[in-house]
Formats: sequence, C-alpha cells, structure tokens
Amino acid sequence: MSENAASEHSAPQDSGAHRFTIDDTLFVAEREQMVEEQILQRGVRDPRVLEAMREVPRHCFVPPEYRYLAYTDGPLPIGSGQTISQPYIVALMTELLRLKGHEKVLEVGAGSGYQAAILSRLAREVHTIERHANLARHAARILSDLGLENVHVHIGDGTLGLPEHAPYDGILVTAAAPQVPGALLQQLADGGRMVIPVGGRGGQVLEVWTREGERYDYESVLPVAFVPLVGEQGWKD
Ligand code: SAM
Repeated sequence: MSENAASEHSAPQDSGAHRFTIDDTLFVAEREQMVEEQILQRGVRDPRVLEAMREVPRHCFVPPEYRYLAYTDGPLPIGSGQTISQPYIVALMTELLRLKGHEKVLEVGAGSGYQAAILSRLAREVHTIERHANLARHAARILSDLGLENVHVHIGDGTLGLPEHAPYDGILVTAAAPQVPGALLQQLADGGRMVIPVGGRGGQVLEVWTREGERYDYESVLPVAFVPLVGEQGWKD
C-alpha cells in the first residue's frame, strides 16, 4: 500500500485487534439472487461482469452490523461518513469500462475495496486511491485476505490521479465531481475510458469519457447520487 503516493507499506498498519474471518463461501444464493434481480433485470449483460458480481463476497466488505444487508439493493455505510455503492451501480460502472482483461485501471475512491475487488477479476492491474487512511487500510486488508494480489491500495487525493502508474486504460471514479478533473483526463491512455459521476452535491449524471489521441468525447448515461469527491480538483472539504 502506498501513502500519498510516496512511502510503501507491505502490510496494513492496524494489525491484530480488528482482524475478522473472511468466509467467502457464505451467501452464495443471495449473490445469485442479487445478480438476477438487481443487475441482469436492469440490463447489465457483460458475462464477465456478471460472473465477478457472483463471485466477489460483498459481505466481507460491509461492517459486521450491516452484513445481513450485504446483498440488498442499495448503498450501505462503511464509516467515516462514506458508503459502499449499490451493487447495480458497481456492475453498471464496471460494464461501462468495457474491460477485456489486459488493462491497467485506476479507481478513485477505494472506500470498502469492493469495487476494486470486482475490477481485479476483470483487469490485469488495479490501482485504487482513497483519501481516508483508515478506510484505505481496512480495504487493503480485506483485499489481501481474499488473495486479490493485482490490486494496489493508495492513500491520497485521487482528484490528482496517480501519475506514477499512468496511463490507465480505464479510470473509474466512485465519488461525485463538480467537473471532470483535468489530471484524470491527462492520465487516461489513448483509447481509454473513464466513468465518472459529475454534477452538484445533491445529484449527478454518470458520464463516460473516451480519449482518442488528443480528442476527448463524453456521453451521459444515468442520473446518480454519490458522496462528494473532495480534493484539489474536486469539492473543497
Ligand atoms: N468504491 C467504493 C466501494 O466499493 O466501497 C465506494 C466509494 S464511496 C461511494 C466514495 C469514496 O470516495 C469514499 O470512500 C471517499 O472517501 C472517497 N473519496 C472522496 N474524495 C476522494 C479523493 N479526492 N481521493 C480519493 N478518495 C476520495
């Protein structure tokens, strides 16, 4: 894990006391039902995305007191005033990246680590950055316990991207930006895709940006409501 994109840590710092048992064999039927009723029926069709949503144990990324709600159709609190996103939105945003398996992806807003875990099943290399150090460390621990070794968790301001690993074939922003951060556009690879909610604090539109050389295009997909993207090229705290 890297902190402020500067120092490397081989292990999360909060060792021992809060360690929990990962049991990814639980809730298999609930996950299948989630995929059928919340995701397939709303139109997500990419078989690789559906398979990842079936496989990754969302309950492992949810605080123990909310675990019984892990496969319900909505976001849940994860601490520090933040949320793990609704499963359908995770699936939709992932599908919009059109990953084939060879890509390097940046996620801005690691939160619980769940979205990064989904991406890890679909891309070659995943970097995820989170501004709350406690969330980042917790996410890193779960991802590591699940053996997802192609995910790298960083602590810092993701509105500036993560230049040391750029360019990225895909960028997925899971917090609401007032406008698209220029740093992220610059770090998008030629031919790359970025999925980002853009708009006011009360509601946004999910946008897909594509880059061809120096030409950037975007399309609007869906009204959404995300927590704010806070940072130098986002909202002020
Ligand atoms: N993707 C997460 C998951 O799977 O649990 C959910 C993300 S939550 C909706 C948005 C996250 O973005 C929060 O954890 C928040 O702290 C983080 N965030 C907001 N501004 C950020 C920034 N500038 N850099 C990095 N993370 C940021």
